Amino acid sequence: MEIPVGSRIELRYLGRRFCSRFVRGRYCLNPLTRVRTEALPWCDRCLSEIPSIKCVLGDPQCSEEEAPKSRKCVNSGVFEERCRVPRYHYVLIYPVSPSSVYIKVGINRETTFPTRVLEQGAPIAVVYARTPNVWKGRVLELGSREVLRKLEGRSIAEGIRIAHASEVKKTLSVVSTSLKYLGLQTYSLDTFLLGTTEASNLLDKLVSVGRAVCKYLVEQFREFALENSLVLNLWSHVYLIDQSKLTSNFVAVDSVERISSLEGEVVGWIGSVMLLRCRDALYLLNFHRFSGSLLRLRVTQ
Ligand SMILES: [Zn+2]
Repeated sequence: MEIPVGSRIELRYLGRRFCSRFVRGRYCLNPLTRVRTEALPWCDRCLSEIPSIKCVLGDPQCSEEEAPKSRKCVNSGVFEERCRVPRYHYVLIYPVSPSSVYIKVGINRETTFPTRVLEQGAPIAVVYARTPNVWKGRVLELGSREVLRKLEGRSIAEGIRIAHASEVKKTLSVVSTSLKYLGLQTYSLDTFLLGTTEASNLLDKLVSVGRAVCKYLVEQFREFALENSLVLNLWSHVYLIDQSKLTSNFVAVDSVERISSLEGEVVGWIGSVMLLRCRDALYLLNFHRFSGSLLRLRVTQ
């Protein structure tokens, strides 16, 4: 579904959620009476079919040699559709101030690539490795996290400091900080005289940080490193933002329960986050967190 920037919409949560498990080419859509884990809004039947939630979240509970360990691994499709699927490894880079960044590593199965990379709304993403399955992927993920942790507190390019690495931060909070430093144009006398904006300057620096981080990771994991790693400037080339309609009065919405009824103009998309301008406020709606929820959406203009 595509909702163009500039549309006026009405959005209402109808109070019902459904199992959002996608298996063997279709969604389960069993009604959910409760959500056990937000990361996996699945029905009890689906949860009982899989060997373990951890396996599905990318933390395999057996070794590569013993797989498939149980009949559940095969019958649920987890072994074939998750464990044995190659993975892409990426780093996301978000500004947390004009001179520091938060970086984190992530994994995206090849069958759903590049959705996971894009939906987290990072201004810069670096795709640096590919592993053949969940076991090798997990080892590389943990190793990469360790590499990033060692970079914490250091400046590795353009005087930009790595303030945090790999700790888990909420998508909405890092997206709203990015928006603050990259979306809301901040002019100073210097940048005015030089004819550039601080924001585009910062974006260039983030690209350099991305390249530098990528170099560290590729050196460390030569076996699985991509021959041509990708440093992607998603902010400039993928996300759509009407900068003239932004305001610094943000309202972050991470839970579907908080949308009773909203009406406004869609002024941008940053990954899975819709920017909805409602009067003086800018609603940041993280659609990734609404998965399985029944919403009524009307485009009024
Ligand atoms: Zn289900």
